[in-house]
Amino acid sequence: MKKYFMTIIFIFLMSGILYADEWTQNNSDLRRAVKNDKTPPTRLEPLTKLKPLNEIEGVIRRVKIENGEKVIAITFDMCELETTTTGCDMNIINFLREKKIPATLFMGGKWMRTHSERVKQIMGEKIFEIGNHNWSHGNCALLSEKELKNQILWTQSEYELLREEAGIEDINEVPELFRLPYGRNSEKSLKTISDLGLRIIQWDVAAEAGDNTNINRAKRNAKKVAAMTKSGSILLFHANLVPKGSLNLLREVVKELENQDYVFVKVSDLLKMGIPETVKIGYFTTPGDNKALDKKFGIDGTGRRK
Ligand SMILES: [Zn+2]
Repeated sequence: MKKYFMTIIFIFLMSGILYADEWTQNNSDLRRAVKNDKTPPTRLEPLTKLKPLNEIEGVIRRVKIENGEKVIAITFDMCELETTTTGCDMNIINFLREKKIPATLFMGGKWMRTHSERVKQIMGEKIFEIGNHNWSHGNCALLSEKELKNQILWTQSEYELLREEAGIEDINEVPELFRLPYGRNSEKSLKTISDLGLRIIQWDVAAEAGDNTNINRAKRNAKKVAAMTKSGSILLFHANLVPKGSLNLLREVVKELENQDYVFVKVSDLLKMGIPETVKIGYFTTPGDNKALDKKFGIDGTGRRK
């Protein structure tokens, strides 16, 4: 009898090992599993510099789709502060791969270095595109111009270094889309960011509201998210294992939106399909609702006050 159990356990373990491929989430993908490194990237300025934008465009919240087609973009922020490391939610990445759902991933530069092997894998998947989400989540409303440039350019450099290491040539040389940490910016920072050639992509649907670990709660929240979504919407999720239950919510949101015949595209493709709807100052759901975050986190992602 004991032998029988041992055989069952052995088969069970083996199936786990066989099932686990290089995409399966492992311990080093978890929050704080990788030691924090506060140093800047090894390359401080990217070799590829984007041309400044022709005009200051503003913060893009959604796209007005010209032919009314039911298209939306799902985006994920993958970020960490200067003082800590966060995770890489491979279960979300694998769900998107399995369902072949195109997605735009806004990565912090420091986060990219923490999860460099994962970023190189992701760079090889055609369904994904990577955007810039500042080096260590610096607040664009409060950073000096020099600090803001560092936050952006260090991230461009880290992407460039990993792209070279991965030997992948058929993706952008550097990211062309930018996401504001905390959704915060000043009018002045709009100019700095557009002079660096990046378009600012926000969202009109902040999907994660609280903990979605409970599946019934995730289902209820997914209905709310679907009700807020319209053609041309940009949805905000996270894939850094910080909000709880993001995968549960994502599964349910995708189910709801597929039932309504929505098609998922990357942000860069959504932008080609219509006219961006912009604001001068970013927010979560209503103007000004993220301003209180200025006092909660340090300007440069450290927790330090200046
Ligand atoms: Zn973020």
